[in-house]
Amino acid sequence: MSTLAAPVVEFRGVGLTYPGPPPVPALRPGDVTIRRGEYVTVVGPSGSGKSTFLNIAGLLDAPTSGRYFLDGVDTGGLGDADRTALRGRRIGFVFQSFHLLPHRSATENVMLAMVYNTGPRTDRRTRAREALARVGLAHRADALPTRLSGGERQRVAIARALVTRPSLLLCDEPTGNLDTATAGSVLGLLDDLHRDGMTLVVITHDPGVAARGRRTLTIRDGVLAERTAA
Ligand code: ADP
Repeated sequence: MSTLAAPVVEFRGVGLTYPGPPPVPALRPGDVTIRRGEYVTVVGPSGSGKSTFLNIAGLLDAPTSGRYFLDGVDTGGLGDADRTALRGRRIGFVFQSFHLLPHRSATENVMLAMVYNTGPRTDRRTRAREALARVGLAHRADALPTRLSGGERQRVAIARALVTRPSLLLCDEPTGNLDTATAGSVLGLLDDLHRDGMTLVVITHDPGVAARGRRTLTIRDGVLAERTAA
């Protein structure tokens, strides 16, 4: 085995307690390292702390204890503007409910992710179309989301997440709104991205989705742990 890939996500004693009253320890302080190119699933029941983990890893919430390094950057020292910029450049989000703007075409939805890209608009359009081609939607690039199937909408959302070339793709129940066959095709796309070297973290309560990861973390009552073979 060669040397270990660089850490993308590194939690050192990271935890979050909502102040209350009463205080809610939503994520217990712990250590997690996710390295470049890993495909990690995070599985746990409702209320176990999955969203809290996602919000911290995605720089949407700051932990109340510990230190979070993203690509080696100590995020605890950053002000709001720097956190937002780091999030925009390094993290692609994919949500259960797609979050597409209904009156913008697939291409325009993807282009909107490039707010930190100061290049010419034509370049952004080209990159958006390349990202749509990557997810198998070159032929639907001008369609409005309302004219797309659920699976196609999620592919647009994945293209939007990829177009900024993030270090980390964070997916929150990415197949939660899809039927089984469509879900299978979206999970196939995530497998392809993993094969191409993308770092993937997929949060789910679905054991079938969790099994797609090459590594699974469990979360229960705010405690993150490696899932060990049964
Ligand atoms: P999951 O995503 O696994 O359903 P969450 O991370 O949303 O779990 O929640 C973990 C725990 O934190 C739960 O007990 C939840 O009730 C609590 N919680 C979530 N958000 C807040 C909040 N803003 N204030 C207080 N408690 C919260």
